Amino acid sequence: MTDGSLQATLNELHQRYRGLSTGRVADYIPELARSDPSWFGIAVATVDGQVWAVGDHDRPFTIQSICKPFSYGMALEDHGREEVLRRVGVEPTGDAFNSHIKLEAATKRPHNPMVNAGAIAVASLIAGQDPTQRLNRVLAAFSRYVGREVLVDMPVFLSERTSGHRNRAIAHLMRHFGMLDERVDEALDLYFQQCSVRVTARDLALMGATLANGGVHPHTGQRALDPRYLRDVLTVMFTCGLYDSAGQWAYEVGLPAKSGISGGLLAVVPGQLGIGIYSPPLDERGSTVRGLRVCADLSRQLGLHVFDAWMARRAAQPPASSSACSATSSSS
Ligand code: GLU
Repeated sequence: MTDGSLQATLNELHQRYRGLSTGRVADYIPELARSDPSWFGIAVATVDGQVWAVGDHDRPFTIQSICKPFSYGMALEDHGREEVLRRVGVEPTGDAFNSHIKLEAATKRPHNPMVNAGAIAVASLIAGQDPTQRLNRVLAAFSRYVGREVLVDMPVFLSERTSGHRNRAIAHLMRHFGMLDERVDEALDLYFQQCSVRVTARDLALMGATLANGGVHPHTGQRALDPRYLRDVLTVMFTCGLYDSAGQWAYEVGLPAKSGISGGLLAVVPGQLGIGIYSPPLDERGSTVRGLRVCADLSRQLGLHVFDAWMARRAAQPPASSSACSATSSSS
């Protein structure tokens, strides 16, 4: 696809869905209810640093749950895979993002880092001497993914901090089960702060492109994630990023992705590009209605589903006879 035709595709998708009026803006965090349902931006960034965008791609909003894969990457870097797996699993829940139900299951361990319970547990794992240092580490890490300095939106942070009773209940339940240490309020504050980091759709596309590029930002050349943990981050996005529609998403769209209740959506095409979309009206599962449609259409039109892409490569290049399987069987 040429540069011009990708821009034309984005323009056409924006045109196709800007009039879509289904979905509701989140209001359980009061400050988010001020968003205009017509805001709509799409951006795509490639691993070689090109960016295409249309609509409100530079309008700031809070990252919300799209912070979760990035803080999970930090926890993996801080503690290693084994310790993090002891505290947070990698199984999809099939439940809503803010459900506490599965916490009662045998292990008492949150199922995965993409639901609120797991993300609060991950926030408690971020290393640092005190809350300020931990927040500064998170902001520095997110800034490396974005390629510019990012900051917390204070009104949204305070709004969520005062209204986040459900997340407090989840955190205290985890404390009761011994899955959080005594710094429950600190973990919650860091979780609310990281959800309140201000980004744009263009920023999300570049964060996705950084993951697509092996953890290195395409413009700055800075490494944002240890390559040892790239696969882990992309896997939980693929299997758990869209909460209780993760299976349907993997089936239809086939990309590691994460949505957030402010209306953001980030998707990664490994080795190729990142997609960032912003549109506040949400479906009943808490994901942006226009964002889901645009991403599904982009995946279909450009053949981005990971298995489509693999089949296209396979068709273009028949596999060599010495495959991994034949190597294994001949050595056994
Ligand atoms: N900060 C939000 C919450 O904890 C994030 C949820 C989301 O974006 O899905 O409820």
